[in-house]
Amino acid sequence: MESLLKGFANFRQNVYPQQKEMFLRLASGQSPHTLFITCADSRVMPEMMFSAQPGELFVLRNIGNVVPPYSQHVGGVVAAIEYAVAELNVRNIVICGHTDCGAMKAVLDPSKLAGVPSVASWLKHTDTARHVAAHHDHPVDSPEALSCLTEENVVSQLDHLRTQPVVAARLAAGTLRLHGWIYDIAHGDILAFDTQAGKFLPLLPDNGQTPCATPRPRLLGAVSEAAA
Ligand SMILES: [Zn+2]
Repeated sequence: MESLLKGFANFRQNVYPQQKEMFLRLASGQSPHTLFITCADSRVMPEMMFSAQPGELFVLRNIGNVVPPYSQHVGGVVAAIEYAVAELNVRNIVICGHTDCGAMKAVLDPSKLAGVPSVASWLKHTDTARHVAAHHDHPVDSPEALSCLTEENVVSQLDHLRTQPVVAARLAAGTLRLHGWIYDIAHGDILAFDTQAGKFLPLLPDNGQTPCATPRPRLLGAVSEAAA
């Protein structure tokens, strides 16, 4: 608690005064450009990674960067996605996994889930990824198995995301872009899933070509690309 209070004191004394106008402007509403879905892991800090200011990223975090498929059962993740897309009109959705993910390690070794039944139940939403990753035949305790599952989990959560009606409609109209990323904690790199290539490629901000997980829009009159 002491570190929290010290941090807040620093915010009040140094950060807020320098950006007071921005905070006053934001007090009356938000217009984030991106819904950023990532793991709850404390080492993943989206605002730091993208030098983002308050109001830019609508961040949704949970164990394993999971998106439950659309169903009769409504949970907080589905509701947040619906709100971000239908009400805030975000133009991008990123699903971002990361290296050394404890959730992915637990999926590979279910004995880790013995004392946390709610987590075990939540991670049922990674079953598709687990089944697909098993086809790669990596030894269960190998680094390759972990990175493979981490990648397949992002791909399968992107599949789940497209089952959300508001997401499907905006994709068909070409007004929403999807991205599936893996953040490398040790090296500060990002791998991005590219639908055309069918694999993850380095995200290189300066080369002008961003790997993209967005399906082609198909509604009459759809624009070829959503606004960036
Ligand atoms: Zn994680």
